Amino acid sequence: MKSHARVVVIGGGVVGCSVLYHLTKFGWTDVVLVERSELTSGSTWHAAGGMHTINGDPNVAKLQKYTVELYKEIQDYSGQDIGLHMTSGMMLASTKDRFDWMKSILAKGRYMGLDAHLLTPKEAHDLMPLLDPDQFVGAVFDPVEGHLDPYGTTHAYAKSARKNGADIYLHTKVEDLVQREDGSWRVITDKGEIIAEHVVNCGGLWAREVGRMVGLELPVLAMEHMYLITEDMPEVIEFNRTAGRELMHCVDFDGEIYLRQERNGMLMGTYEKACRPWSPLATPWNFGHELLAEDIERITPELEVGFRHFPAFNKAGIRKVINGPFTFSPDGNPLVGPVRGMTNYWSACAVMAGFSQGGGVGLALANWMIHGDPGFDVFAMDVSRYGDFATLAYTNAKVRENYSRRFSIRYPNEELPAGRPLLTTPVYDKLKEAGAVFGASYGLEQPLWFAPKGVEDHFSWRRSTDFDTVGAEAKAVRDSVGLMETSGFAKYAVKGEGAEAWLDRLLTCRMPATGRMTLAPMLKDDGKLIGDFTLAKLGEGDFLLIGSGIAEDYHMRWFETHLSKDGSVTLEALNLALVGLAIAGPKAREVMQKLTHLDLSTPAFPFMAVRRMDLGMAPAIVGRVSYTGDLGYEIWMKPQYQRYLYDLLLEAGAEFGIRLFGLRALNALRLEKSYGSWSREYRPLYGPLEAGLERFVAVKKDADFIGKAAAKAERESGGALRLRTFILDAKDADVIGDEPIYLNGDVRGWVTSGGYAHAAGVSVAVGYVPKEIADVESGWSIELLGEILAARPQSEPLFDPSGAKMRG
Ligand SMILES: Cc1cc2nc3c(=O)[nH]c(=O)nc-3n(C[C@H](O)[C@H](O)[C@H](O)COP(=O)(O)OP(=O)(O)OC[C@H]3O[C@@H](n4cnc5c(N)ncnc54)[C@H](O)[C@@H]3O)c2cc1C
Repeated sequence: MKSHARVVVIGGGVVGCSVLYHLTKFGWTDVVLVERSELTSGSTWHAAGGMHTINGDPNVAKLQKYTVELYKEIQDYSGQDIGLHMTSGMMLASTKDRFDWMKSILAKGRYMGLDAHLLTPKEAHDLMPLLDPDQFVGAVFDPVEGHLDPYGTTHAYAKSARKNGADIYLHTKVEDLVQREDGSWRVITDKGEIIAEHVVNCGGLWAREVGRMVGLELPVLAMEHMYLITEDMPEVIEFNRTAGRELMHCVDFDGEIYLRQERNGMLMGTYEKACRPWSPLATPWNFGHELLAEDIERITPELEVGFRHFPAFNKAGIRKVINGPFTFSPDGNPLVGPVRGMTNYWSACAVMAGFSQGGGVGLALANWMIHGDPGFDVFAMDVSRYGDFATLAYTNAKVRENYSRRFSIRYPNEELPAGRPLLTTPVYDKLKEAGAVFGASYGLEQPLWFAPKGVEDHFSWRRSTDFDTVGAEAKAVRDSVGLMETSGFAKYAVKGEGAEAWLDRLLTCRMPATGRMTLAPMLKDDGKLIGDFTLAKLGEGDFLLIGSGIAEDYHMRWFETHLSKDGSVTLEALNLALVGLAIAGPKAREVMQKLTHLDLSTPAFPFMAVRRMDLGMAPAIVGRVSYTGDLGYEIWMKPQYQRYLYDLLLEAGAEFGIRLFGLRALNALRLEKSYGSWSREYRPLYGPLEAGLERFVAVKKDADFIGKAAAKAERESGGALRLRTFILDAKDADVIGDEPIYLNGDVRGWVTSGGYAHAAGVSVAVGYVPKEIADVESGWSIELLGEILAARPQSEPLFDPSGAKMRG
């Protein structure tokens, strides 16, 4: 065994072998994979081997597409047969709602060039005669689906990596990981020690244990999963004979089952409602090439539907039932990337669809390790999307929910209940009493809207029970004044004599003067957006940075990586140590003025001013800014003052009819100003010029901020895209995001977000289109739930285009 290696990959399942292959493919050949048993001895060996490209998240779909396209390459390169069957596949819907959902998935795939299309039940039956067409309302056909041999595929990655110079040590168990002073790792195995610059946790079923070796509790849990294989079926043999091909894959969403041909019979699996975690606390090290006891009773309700939808199964004998464990994160997506707070400890685990995603995970991780960037927008898979709220018990609750809902519809307005409420702010019960309907984000309960008594969210693709109330909340802000809770934003205190110089290098904006705020984009080296913040200078060496709540760990990882080591800057994610309220609307100043003796007139406290001030008896930080685009104030306080300030603001606003509003009304309001939002309009896919943030990118400032050269280059070349706002001729539904944008019938762009702009009374869609056509005035349309709707580009914001109200 080698004593030193650049990288030690821990785990020889399909994911570990893919990571190893990609590292060697991109030139790192001093790499080693350590496997405690044989390759595939975790969840990989008993997988059904199915793979597909379609995914609800286009960024994940891109990596799935890459994975599927890679198979021929590794088979040819390694000479290892991977048993590839590209059968194509279909997703079936037996309700109209489900069909609506499929249409939205199909539409999302359009701008990626996915060649999928809709089928009638009869067309579906013609392609897959085992199904009963009367049970379905329609289907989506996907030509890029199939299955392969899990063993052959894993070995093809491994052989390719070996061919490129990698070493693989079998029957070698990593027992501990100890970081040395120089940042390198002692990888302690039962066969000796390897010193490695980097370690990668591809431990699959044991990923938690490999995390615990370094004090990490990764949010990952294994679930039992069953599929059955039938005896030979005459219907299958007959189809193969007459059609000259295999039967295709099917996912029957309402039956919650998937099926494909296996030899002359069929394989049927299900994500059952009565699901069961496996080894919830710790995975036994002596678990090997074993299966779990079959428990057909648990999956009987789903099989009954399956057998009704595919009647030929009723006559088929069952040859085998496979029950094996495999791992999930709370949202079902992998946990990939560098782990915050550690040097060169990488995660590539919780990959529940290793044969659809393993290649993409290997590609992204190898890019990240070698080039410092995954090369794709992988936020949906980033290990940093979970903070410390994702404990063992939280993970258990969420994984069970996710597993049992794997084939369920998630409506755009649907909030899932497991693991909630977890984090709440002091005004939670007061908001609840006022009718708040909460959503959970990054573990925190946040009001979405305030429902009248007896009204609740009806989950739907179309406008729903909240529509009128959200409209009234938005209009209250535009007409008078509204109050909302803003604790869900991430807040960072940046202090110290080196704080300003550090921020100047980290952020693209000019540093504000004391008492002022500014918008502050943050770029990667390649000039793409990695953050957008509001930066407030409270005093010399005293800054408050406000950003996206869901990205707190993601941004902290970036900040900490770039923090100067000389101790001149202190950085703290305040989380709920600082909570917020905001008021907005033309009467906002009159409300605020009642709470302070300080002069809040525009000359004394103008737009983008910020200062510490007492409101009533409570100390607070007040900024004159509002994401609603109206006259407004953001108020930050210690949690112990929040209840008091909430009551005080409501009392002061009573004479103006102050109204509580939630995140849904805020979305409607910011759309009227064409304000972008992190993870929608602003992502690591876009440059600041493309995103319309170029005025906050001070390419002429002295500081050599990260991404400056690339930002200058973008300015010279003009980038590739432009962000545009459209008004859509929508009748009873609004866009959510990822719908295709057409120009004269051709797909040319995609929606990033949208909704109904209540105060303006129009449906709005925001999205990216190529710069060359960005100023075309007519011929635009957007696909929404299978309909092509006319869209009119907006040259200026719908509300207060001159900014007079906001600044006045
Ligand atoms: C019944 C069933 C059906 C499935 N069907 C499909 C399907 O159709 N399509 C699909 O894409 N996916 C399917 N899956 C899921 C698929 O199996 C997983 O996504 C995949 O196996 C994950 O691979 P992995 O490499 O992350 O983990 P694993 O396969 O668990 O590999 C982890 C490896 O790490 C090794 N290891 C762990 N700790 C150490 C250590 N300390 N030292 C050394 N080695 C260590 C283990 O021995 C193991 O070999 C199915 C799973 C099951 C159970």
